[in-house]
Amino acid sequence: MTGTSRMRVTVFGTRGSIPVSGGDFVIFGGNTSCYLVEAGGESIFLDAGSGLANAPTSFGHAPVILLSHLHMDHLLGLGMYARLSQPGAATQLYVPAHDAREAKRAVDRLYSHPLWPLELSDYGGDLAICAMSATMRFGEVQVQTEQGNHPGGCRLIKIRHGHTTLVYATDFEHDEEACARLAAFAHDADLLLYDGQYDEDAYDAHRGFGHSTPAMGAALKKRCGAKRLLVVHHDPRSTDQELLAREQALGDASMRFAREGEVIEL
Ligand SMILES: [Zn+2]
Ligand SMILES: [Zn+2]
Repeated sequence: MTGTSRMRVTVFGTRGSIPVSGGDFVIFGGNTSCYLVEAGGESIFLDAGSGLANAPTSFGHAPVILLSHLHMDHLLGLGMYARLSQPGAATQLYVPAHDAREAKRAVDRLYSHPLWPLELSDYGGDLAICAMSATMRFGEVQVQTEQGNHPGGCRLIKIRHGHTTLVYATDFEHDEEACARLAAFAHDADLLLYDGQYDEDAYDAHRGFGHSTPAMGAALKKRCGAKRLLVVHHDPRSTDQELLAREQALGDASMRFAREGEVIEL
């Protein structure tokens, strides 16, 4: 980690729903949700979308992967993450579930015959699949989770190291009650990652799909006092030009759209 940075975020996948590729998806990227947060010597992935396939495989400590929920776009990269095949390479995967057995069963629904040729436990690495708790600690890094607002559920995830706080609110649909809960959870965060899949025009036709808009992210940033907003979970139909226009409409350098490959120092 460089300079005085206390937390570093590397973006490996910004897209929601399905991966996309081609000339319209160069600036913001085409891989689905995956972010690496490094702090206090710990390496914590937020979600395991297709972007995880491009993530590093060597770490000082065993990395942790936190899944916000089990929708496929947040799981797609696990099957192609090379670390899981490295003998002796320990990785901890935390899944919203009551216990480790239920967590493994949930992940195995995708990673088993007939949808996938192998179970993750057959890859040859040292993968531990665990149930996520409301509070967890990895070295000096504290993790808290809270209920979001999404069909089938999705965890809001807060990562804190020292006085630096990041909140990940992907797959979140705004309504008054959920926004009040998120605003309290993300109070004074240094960085808020917020689901802005739809613009205001598209949102009406997608009410109840479990997603939100950049404008709601901007309102929430103001409400909770977050210093920076990173809009995430871009719609697979949204081109670079459309996303650039929506980013510009936010009109404030502290509010940006996530770009695959970028590194953010906090
Ligand atoms: Zn999603
Ligand atoms: Zn989802």
